[in-house]
Amino acid sequence: MRPIYYPEPFRIKSVEPLKLLTREERRQRLQEANYNMFSLAARDVYIDLLTDSGTGAMSAAQWSGVMVGDESYAGAESYYHLQEAAGEIFRMPYLQLVHQGRAAEKVLLPILLSGKKYAIANMHFDTTRAHVELAGARAIDCVVPEALDTSTYCDFKGNMDCERLNSLIKELGAENVGVVIMTITNNSAGGQPVSVENIKKTAEIAHKYHIPFMIDAARCAENAYFIKRREKAYGSCSIPEILHACFEDADCFTMSAKKDAIVNMGGLIGCRDKALFEAVKQRTISLEGFVTYGGMSGRDIEALAVGLKEGIDENFLRYRIGQMEYLAARLDEAGIPYQSPVGGHAVFVDAKKLLPHIPYYQFPAQALAVELYLEAGIRACDIGSFLLGNDPDTGKQLEADFEFTRLAIPRRVYTQSHLDVIADALINIKERAASIKGYKIVEEPPILRHFTAKLRPVE
Ligand SMILES: *Cc1c(COP(=O)(O)O)cnc(C)c1O
Repeated sequence: MRPIYYPEPFRIKSVEPLKLLTREERRQRLQEANYNMFSLAARDVYIDLLTDSGTGAMSAAQWSGVMVGDESYAGAESYYHLQEAAGEIFRMPYLQLVHQGRAAEKVLLPILLSGKKYAIANMHFDTTRAHVELAGARAIDCVVPEALDTSTYCDFKGNMDCERLNSLIKELGAENVGVVIMTITNNSAGGQPVSVENIKKTAEIAHKYHIPFMIDAARCAENAYFIKRREKAYGSCSIPEILHACFEDADCFTMSAKKDAIVNMGGLIGCRDKALFEAVKQRTISLEGFVTYGGMSGRDIEALAVGLKEGIDENFLRYRIGQMEYLAARLDEAGIPYQSPVGGHAVFVDAKKLLPHIPYYQFPAQALAVELYLEAGIRACDIGSFLLGNDPDTGKQLEADFEFTRLAIPRRVYTQSHLDVIADALINIKERAASIKGYKIVEEPPILRHFTAKLRPVE
């Protein structure tokens, strides 16, 4: 039986043509791109699932915001619109605009980590990990063990392992831990949600040791929708009410607005403490731009103010999560393993299980991404050992907890027929899984290497 699918709560006004190259052309393009998905030209991609970040379709209301965006250098009208919209959603006294999520990390994390050795998170997203390391600290993940088994059902697989957090802080010394971070939803674990109860418990532990508690809020709206459906105490709350519950114990947050705020560029920092905000403002001015534009153009700020509200609309979220559930149900029918239950922004196919003959150091999730492009012009990416990279101390390839090929679904962009193409491609690949080969790296930079590394198939 097909699951209930929640149809699009919008109609299409403007379209972009797509082209599917021949299989031979796709084989050629892969070779030219050194088997790195980030090196493919977008025009050669039929369905682009590389990321849901900044790839959403803006609404008519957002586009009209673009027209009225105020480009004044200081104190632009759009800045006030954004402060009002974000202030209402997050209820943090101090908000700083920046141009994207990693800019928020670049501004905030060195302040929190100054003189500190560690950041602990349910899981650090790759740019968050990079900025922790650039600030001279180490990033430690502390997700619940249920997250590591992709076939176990758990309502909140993104949660922090609170007991372990507590013992980790004691072991490392509370004075050495600069920040406790909660990523909602937990992107690296598969877009898995975190409960309000877990957020509050984590905040309590951090505060017991006088450590700032930060939320990485990139997908806080999708997270709130999961809470509404799965956490009993919040079942009758509205999405804004749930968001208030999520943020009320946080000392600060960073947000990539390119996800749940449905804009192509933008980011936010929020803080509760005035002294921290002063430091944030100073760093923003030197790194991003004056405080009322923070590296953004006025038109983008206006679109963000509108998108923040559209992104927390419950009808939109039901359709959005419904897309993931539809694709996941088709994979269930075909016996294709993925991080289950499916998360908020993507289906994370378990390449370790689908391609068990490829070891982590030959990047099974990258191999599957290459096959998806070859099969149907679909661009996905590796969230596994290829993404994780090398140990910063020893330079040795690390083994990731997961080998996921992430099928990130852009917001309001692809239809149900596209989802069927994706499912059918995976089914075809599953049939020839045993013949698929792993990859080796022939060239790589020291940090965030997955964006530019060159690969070759292992013979
Ligand atoms: C995307 C993302 C970031 C970084 O944001 P950018 O806008 O890509 O710089 C940080 N944390 C999480 C959880 C993300 O998904």
